Amino acid sequence: MPSHSPIEHSSPSILGANSAGCDLCHSSEFSVVMDTPEGNSSILICENCGLMRASPPLSPEALDSFYDDTFVNDPGCQLRAGSNFPSDKDRKKEEILAETWGIQIIKRFVEPRGKHILDLRCRTGALTSILTEEGAEVIGVEPFGGNANYAREIRRLSNIVDLPFSRLHQFPLPSNEYYDLVNILPHHVLAHVLSPRRLLEQIFIALKPGGYIFLDEKDVLYPVRHKKQSALDSGPAHQFHLTLHTTAQYFRAMGFNLLEYEIDKTRSSDFCHIRIVAQKPKANEKNSTILRKITLETGPSTEAIRRRLWWLERGWNLRLTRLAVKKKSLRMLQKLGF
Ligand SMILES: [Zn+2]
Repeated sequence: MPSHSPIEHSSPSILGANSAGCDLCHSSEFSVVMDTPEGNSSILICENCGLMRASPPLSPEALDSFYDDTFVNDPGCQLRAGSNFPSDKDRKKEEILAETWGIQIIKRFVEPRGKHILDLRCRTGALTSILTEEGAEVIGVEPFGGNANYAREIRRLSNIVDLPFSRLHQFPLPSNEYYDLVNILPHHVLAHVLSPRRLLEQIFIALKPGGYIFLDEKDVLYPVRHKKQSALDSGPAHQFHLTLHTTAQYFRAMGFNLLEYEIDKTRSSDFCHIRIVAQKPKANEKNSTILRKITLETGPSTEAIRRRLWWLERGWNLRLTRLAVKKKSLRMLQKLGF
């Protein structure tokens, strides 16, 4: 059973010289917020910026090899890994999301016709197809073979590239500042990669000045349903446990102008989802939002995050107790012949 230490936590530790600092702010001051059930890894929180991450991180080989047919650790993952085509139900969900949500958000900012678009984690290509039909030149990238094959064989999309999560930052880039738009709406990816910073840095290089990025991510502090013991208990699928604040800070740190960042009330899985729309500054435009030092100035303190996690766990335990009492009462009534 995972154990939080939200209130009585140990004082922050200072990482040794050989340890990696915070992926977001480079700070080496962190403390433990949760130990995993197996006891072989922990979730750390950066005392400077509030970023939560798995420790030790998975190796690139371990990250890619555990996404197989039996992968069930990410409770919000509708499209499972493996080489088979996804189920009709999952594919239909993806198509509805693309038609009623994804393309609508993009077209509020960009007219796709004639644009160069990177569709990162494109799943089976539902949104890629729509963007292509709208007249864009789209390159799709997908870690799971079944999805990528469906996009190629059934949707007849020609520019679909297979890339594992450990190398998602090595997406096709014909030249720097090539893309008008990078789309990461179909499924969240930042929590799954080994360094969100490295991925976002590469996207910044890949975008034209004034280019847009659209991104979906989960806020671990706002679970919608408690399927797991803890909000952070999603197995090794999530290398990072992001919040609205830390996700937005990543974009600021990279130099993007944030146009929208909020909880998207129309979208949820087991967690509330964050919607980010950001823009690379136009040529000669001074970026007004870039922060030289990422701090907690505008976000919750690490203590507030700990308290929130503590309350989430208490709430979950209360729910389990209520369910157990209800079951026991039902059994007694059945025994008495009611
Ligand atoms: Zn940090």
